[in-house]
This record gives sequence, structure tokens and C-alpha cells, in this order.
Amino acid sequence: MLPLSQAKRVVIKVGTGVLTSGVGDLDTTRISALCKQIKMLRDKGIDVILVSSGAIGLGMGKLKLDKRPRDLATLQACAAVGQSMLMNHWQRGFDPHEQTIAQILLTRDDLRFKHRHNAVLNTIENLLTNDALPIVNENDTVSAAEIKFGDNDTLSALVASVVNADILFILSNISGLIDMQGSGEVVSIVETITPEIEAMAQDTKQATSVGGMISKISAAKIAHKVNCGVVIGSGSDSELFNKLLRGESVGTYFVPSNIPVKSHKRWIAIQDHTHGTIVINSEATDSLTNHGKSLLLTGVTDCDGDFESGDVVQIFSHEGVAIAQGVVNFDIEYLKGAGTETTGGVLVHRDHLVLL
Ligand code: GLU
Repeated sequence: MLPLSQAKRVVIKVGTGVLTSGVGDLDTTRISALCKQIKMLRDKGIDVILVSSGAIGLGMGKLKLDKRPRDLATLQACAAVGQSMLMNHWQRGFDPHEQTIAQILLTRDDLRFKHRHNAVLNTIENLLTNDALPIVNENDTVSAAEIKFGDNDTLSALVASVVNADILFILSNISGLIDMQGSGEVVSIVETITPEIEAMAQDTKQATSVGGMISKISAAKIAHKVNCGVVIGSGSDSELFNKLLRGESVGTYFVPSNIPVKSHKRWIAIQDHTHGTIVINSEATDSLTNHGKSLLLTGVTDCDGDFESGDVVQIFSHEGVAIAQGVVNFDIEYLKGAGTETTGGVLVHRDHLVLL
């Protein structure tokens, strides 16, 4: 059962489809219902960080565009117009509850650099201490292709990692992961994201034309790496959180690993663009995966990329499987030279290494 009553901190992601009823038409009833539920969670002492989509949709309405623009500049213009509208609507929704809100706009790079990642965390912690509700969105107006999160499902999983959330709620207009091949019902609990579960996401996409289940599963995978449970549920259910608090099964619950991950390791785990790759031999693969050991220089058989000491690299087993990510203590130049023959040198210390 979902342990919502024991959660200390949750991230709630709300999709554009939940907030709007047509292009640029905001569903104020739904926003009010969400604000009421979020306030209820906060009154129970649960920290809430909201990740809200909707900027581009609202901007499109204001700029009288009935089709989603294809070019980046127009999308960014829509986001620039819509983001302030979005925050305005949230503020109006929270006004009856006297809840202060705060806007945080992020790009992918903000979480790639450790000092920026930590600055985001410190700001959110400070806001929560001051009883302000952080509302996060992608900084779409400046996010070009290479610095984009891609979608707010991914963004919400990364935010859940930054703040060490217990549960991530991904609310959209679908009620959960549907087992189209089997029961045709919502899958209530997922212990492990198997290929079968991933196949269900494909099926859901075809059957309902909702494009987002694949990105929701990939967000659930990120959350799993950092020990965060995930609920995929319906944002139109105004009783969702009350039901969950009563112990009812609603939506699809992805169980967390229950292995706590420290902040530094969470940062390593969520890095996608690593600076390089390292291939290791079978003994080193065994020491890392089965004995929790550090990676020694002697275990390296190949390396690639442009990494320097302090960068995050991806580590592949002798069989070519990505098994870990970690922070290296040596530059690639050193490894390409005589470095790997040096016995005893630690290339990646186990405190700076996460298994995938
Ligand atoms: N950041 C986008 C917006 O506010 C939404 C992206 C998404 O929903 O995945 O419109």
C-alpha cells in the first residue's frame, strides 16, 4: 500500500491536459480542487513541491494560435507569455488558503553542474522553511534543444531526486498504466519496471492517443534510481490524495527501492550526458556489482570521451552492459597513457559511484 501518510516530502507534477480544457482555456475548477488538496497535504506536515506544465498551452491561447507551433522561437514566445499567466492562476487558486507560492524555472544544465544543483536544492529548502510552495517548470524561453529536459515528466523525476522526495505524483488525464494486453484495467502496483511494463506504455499510447505514458515510465525509472516511489494518476480526481490517505488504491504505484541514496549519489545517478565511458574487466565488474568495491585503475580495459578528474563517466561491464556511473579521479589522458598499469590507484571511489 502507498505510504502517503508517512511521506515527509512529495513532488506533484500536473500536466497541461489537467489544467486546460482546450487551447488556452484554463480549467479553474480543477486548479481550485488541486490547490485544496495540496493545502490539505501541507496541513498534514508534508512538504509539497509542484511541477506545473501549461505555460506553452496558455501562451498559445493568448497569442491566438490554435495549433502547437513547430518552430522553437514561437514555442518559446508562447512559454514567455503563458508562464506568468500560469503562475497567476496558481496564485489565485491558493489565495483562499493564504498559501504563498514561488516560481522556479530550470534548464537541464542547472542540474548537470553540482554547484547549480545544490543551489536549486538550497533555494527549495529555504522556500519550504518559509512556508512558500515552490512551483517548478522548465525555463522554456531559453531552453534550446541541448539544454532541454524534453518533458515535464522527466523534469519532475529529476526534481524529486534533487529534493529527496518520498513520492512523485505524475497527474495527467489518464488514470494510470493500463494493462491493454491483459485485464484492460489500471495496474495498481509495479514492483519492478520490466520489459512487459514498458510494453504496456506503448500499448497505452496506441489505444488512447495519449502520447505521454512512455515518458512517465522513463520518469519512474529515474525516480527508482533515487529511491522515490511514483504514482501515475488522474489529475481530474479531486479526491485522489484523500483516497490515498484512506489507503485506497488509486492509479499506478511504482514501489521505491527502499535503499536510501545520499544527495551526492543522487546527483551522480541523474546525470545523463556523461563525459565519457569506461569499460572494465570481469573481476572489476564483480567487485563493483557484488562487493560494493571502488573501481581500481587495474580493472579498466578501455575508455573513451573527454573526461577530466571530477567528471561523471558511465561504466560498462566486460559484456558491454552499462552497470554504473561515477566520478573519476583521473583524466582520460592519464588512462590512455600508462595509468591503468598503476596498481592500487582508485579511479572511481565507491562513495562516488552508483550502480544502475
Ligand atoms: N514546460 C511545458 C509548458 O509549461 C510543458 C512540457 C510538458 O508538459 O512536458 O508548457
